[in-house]
Amino acid sequence: MNFTYRAESIENTALNQPSREFDHLFLHGESTRSYQHIVQQVTGKLVEVMHKLEHPYSGSTPATLHQKLNKIPVLSYGGEPIESLLEDIDEPLLQSNIHIAHQKSVAHLHCPPLVAAMAAEMVINAFNPSMDSWDQSPAATYLEQEVIEWLIHGFGFDSEADGVFTSGGTQSNYTGLLIARDSFCEKRLGVDVQKHGLPEDFQRLRILCSEDAHFTIKQSASQLGLGEECVLPIRTDKNHQLCIDDLNRKLEELEEEQLLPFALVATCGTTDFGSIDPLPEMAAIAKKHGLWLHVDAAFGGALILSHQHKGKLRGIEKANSITVDFHKLFYQPISCGAFLLKNKTEFRYLQHHADYLNPVDDEEKGIVNLVNKSTQTTRRFDALKLFFSLRMTGTKQYGDMIDHTLSLASSAACHIDAMENMKIINNDPELNTIVFRFEPTVPATIDLNQLNWNIQKHLLYTGKAVLAKTTVKGEVCLKFTLLNPRTKLEDLKEVLADIQEFGESELENWRSTV
Ligand SMILES: *Cc1c(COP(=O)(O)O)cnc(C)c1O
Repeated sequence: MNFTYRAESIENTALNQPSREFDHLFLHGESTRSYQHIVQQVTGKLVEVMHKLEHPYSGSTPATLHQKLNKIPVLSYGGEPIESLLEDIDEPLLQSNIHIAHQKSVAHLHCPPLVAAMAAEMVINAFNPSMDSWDQSPAATYLEQEVIEWLIHGFGFDSEADGVFTSGGTQSNYTGLLIARDSFCEKRLGVDVQKHGLPEDFQRLRILCSEDAHFTIKQSASQLGLGEECVLPIRTDKNHQLCIDDLNRKLEELEEEQLLPFALVATCGTTDFGSIDPLPEMAAIAKKHGLWLHVDAAFGGALILSHQHKGKLRGIEKANSITVDFHKLFYQPISCGAFLLKNKTEFRYLQHHADYLNPVDDEEKGIVNLVNKSTQTTRRFDALKLFFSLRMTGTKQYGDMIDHTLSLASSAACHIDAMENMKIINNDPELNTIVFRFEPTVPATIDLNQLNWNIQKHLLYTGKAVLAKTTVKGEVCLKFTLLNPRTKLEDLKEVLADIQEFGESELENWRSTV
């Protein structure tokens, strides 16, 4: 081999040059000016855009938006400054999104993010810690644990419990049912699912939840190899809460059929009605029948911060596992959620050891690798957002915001109830969603489903309000999800007046064409 030649060629490469041509692209001691400049430009632009946005939505149709964004170049060969990029996206992207902090953005479980959490995002991004192994997030690992500790105690678990941040309710529900399945199979059927796969008679396994439970329960069952049909829906009562009599009846039937129920899912805050299943009764039944109780508190879990409604969570402390989302009623930027487990040793069903990441001897050395509790490997430091929010907002104001949205929902329900041509579906909302309908007395030839659908579309495409629609017993209804603490009853009254006005005008048009 010719060593002389190799040495020469190395000298000639860019690797040996002292130039620092990539420095300005990253954040470090010498690049702060470039970073600060970019951040100033972005914050300046956001402030400017926010001032311009008068409505919750621009009203653009899908076709217009698609066309506009189609024209935006995705590449630049030589790179370009932030100014021209911001100019390019100003109208088609920044001004064409849903303005989620607007008082009349009241559609989904989609929240305005706290400015405190937005600041935390900057810190997260600067260090980009990865929560899977301790050596990629040495300090962040312990801060996440601290926030988890607060949550565990907040939900009434003790020090046997543990938890982990997740991407949201979908991942948390999946994790809960995965651990429930594997724990049941090991303890009751003597099968190690992690190693050997599902037991022979896996088709007898059943999950119970209310018919109003979130669709991710069925989705998890399917992903867990059990099939969607293993989920047995339990009837709900007029308040959309799981009906205990029906649960008992179904459990008896399952026993007669020699089927194997292993998990009972309680919903704490359903998507449409915010209803909370009877947690203490369900906990007692789960205990009696040896079922894993998973509480999906993606929405309602935020009541741990409420001053007036925390009591609605009574019984949640009896759960085996809990789902909670922070990108809903905790006002966090997406994504941010957590999964909590009453008996931390059961995280073992998720564990795999990789020599490069979380070798077994790390544990002996007392090193914590959070990947051992997660279905994710590389994972964001989302705990910091909640930490900033709790510290900067304070639990007093946090609780006030949540309580305001619940009392706003009650008042709005009352107001709708008193309005002409309007029907309120849930006049005593459990959380902060209200479902209602424009329902004048009209001949049967008039399609009120279509009319309500048109109302929702009209408000969206005029940009007047962003509200949701849903179907209750075959009837298309309108829905307010009142997460935004800035929304006042006056704002809703205006939206309701717009609804009535447009509804009446549609009726007029229809009548005149008949
Ligand atoms: C939002 C929600 C989910 C899904 O959570 P993501 O954060 O969207 O993944 C599950 N269950 C309930 C009750 C929810 O409200």
